[in-house]
Amino acid sequence: MHNDPLTIEQIVATDLMSTHLESRPHESAIDRIGAFSKGNRLATLLWRWKYANDANCALPALNVLVRIAAKDFGLTGADLEYETLRRACKQALREWRDPQCIECGGTGEVVLEARTIQCDTCDGTSVRRYSDGARQSVLRVSDTEFPLWQKRLGKIAAVITGRCAQLRNQIAQEREKTLH
Ligand SMILES: [Zn+2]
Repeated sequence: MHNDPLTIEQIVATDLMSTHLESRPHESAIDRIGAFSKGNRLATLLWRWKYANDANCALPALNVLVRIAAKDFGLTGADLEYETLRRACKQALREWRDPQCIECGGTGEVVLEARTIQCDTCDGTSVRRYSDGARQSVLRVSDTEFPLWQKRLGKIAAVITGRCAQLRNQIAQEREKTLH
């Protein structure tokens, strides 16, 4: 128990998946990890989606994220920009869910003529880069609107990482309590 190489995300994912396999509807891992039920619905859905591979959580997560972002930006469903907001949230989720470079699969290296070399696409960073042009075409906004949406995309990404960090802390605290 003294060295714990697994991240909180991995532990929770293992727990979630084993619950899924054993299918015990009355006592889910979600319930056992008390922190999950305490208000942070976005992060709960995001973790189930990403770390436990639960595709059913993708749409609910998007809907919750859109609601949070709309509130932050002062937008309502009546605004013309609402559909753009939805696309921005989708893009932010995509970037969070699959951050790794597709060329090298996130290893930072590719094999070329039997030699392993640094991946050109990501310069060996393993991280998938989205160009401004790629983001703009996903968002379907004009050149004049794009700077504002780029800023908003950053804020949406911060909501995602912020809520996930909050959940990670909650679970870490719960685990501390049960270990001592
Ligand atoms: Zn790469």
